[in-house]
Amino acid sequence: STRIVLASRPHGAPVEENFRLETAQLPPVGRGQVLLRIIYLSLDPYMRGRMSTAESYAEPMEIDDVMVGGTVAQVLASRYPGVDAGDYVLSYSGWQTHAVEDGARVRKLDARRAPLSTALGVLGMPGFTAYAGLLAIGRPVAGETVVVAAASGPVGSVVGQIAKLQGARAIGIAGGPDKCDYVRGRLGFDEAVDHRSPEFAEQLAYVVPDGIDVYFENVGGPVTDTVMPLLNTYARVPVCGLVSQYNLPGRPDGPDRLPAFMNYVLTKSLSVRGFIQSEFVDDWYPGFLMDMSDWVQSKRVRYREDIVDGVENAPAAFMGLLEGRNFGKLVVRVAEE
Ligand code: NDP
Repeated sequence: STRIVLASRPHGAPVEENFRLETAQLPPVGRGQVLLRIIYLSLDPYMRGRMSTAESYAEPMEIDDVMVGGTVAQVLASRYPGVDAGDYVLSYSGWQTHAVEDGARVRKLDARRAPLSTALGVLGMPGFTAYAGLLAIGRPVAGETVVVAAASGPVGSVVGQIAKLQGARAIGIAGGPDKCDYVRGRLGFDEAVDHRSPEFAEQLAYVVPDGIDVYFENVGGPVTDTVMPLLNTYARVPVCGLVSQYNLPGRPDGPDRLPAFMNYVLTKSLSVRGFIQSEFVDDWYPGFLMDMSDWVQSKRVRYREDIVDGVENAPAAFMGLLEGRNFGKLVVRVAEE
């Protein structure tokens, strides 16, 4: 197997030297196991957290571990009943070309129902994060205003489109005019605002004349500072991610904004709720798969993928993800289908 391992821990933004490409002999396929040929690898912001030892909801990787990640694979050999050679599966095999996994830990995919790569995006973990976070915590109702940043990405794009399906107004925040055009034109958000524009604060205030009822938090930092004063009383804030902070070596620079934030929580009676998508799986996953398959098929939910070829190019693509160089769900094509 050709694979990429964690060579050293990053200080701030990850650099080439934090990753190492190597080849390794796979173990024999034991009873109950399957041999996989990886086709697609998902690159996601949470992987930055796994590279560090800072406290998080997930255990850090160890040095020399294969970089973690969701994968779509084809079964080459199986010693697990119910999974056969030739089947396509969703697995968590990480940044490598081949893997041996426990059969119980892979889930079969139907390549005729949806493109295989969507199991890592709109029909997978990021799509589910948007669905559960928005419907379980944000709970938008018709006529309300929903704001989400990283709006062209796999989570944000789905948040806004589901908000629209609920009859709410959807406002996207994205980096640069191309992403904003896509969010407005293709995804059908009511408005999109560029957080890199010098007029960002004025533009955001202008497109939410009735204030913000749901702020789906994906990024943190200056974007959140701009959103806070626009929140309405009883606004809901699903706290999903803080990607603008992931590369910071220590505490964010500048004055401590926590007191100001707590003042908003108090004076506007805000409900702020953090969540990890996995906590909603039992109650929400079956409904998600049914609704989202239907919405994607009927084109009521659209998605965009940013596909990079070759596992050796995963580190550079991942570094770009944390700076907004991806446009759509970032997926590495490790091999042809
Ligand atoms: P994306 O593919 O959208 O990639 C991240 C995007 O964040 C970039 O493309 C960029 O978009 C934006 N971004 C990066 N840096 C900044 C910055 N400094 N300020 C503002 N925006 C920035 O990611 P996902 O859709 O996969 O994930 C979105 C968020 O959801 C992340 O925070 C992630 O950690 C979180 N998440 C949480 C889960 C949970 O269970 N709680 C599960 C899955 C994801 P742009 O160019 O538009 O600024």
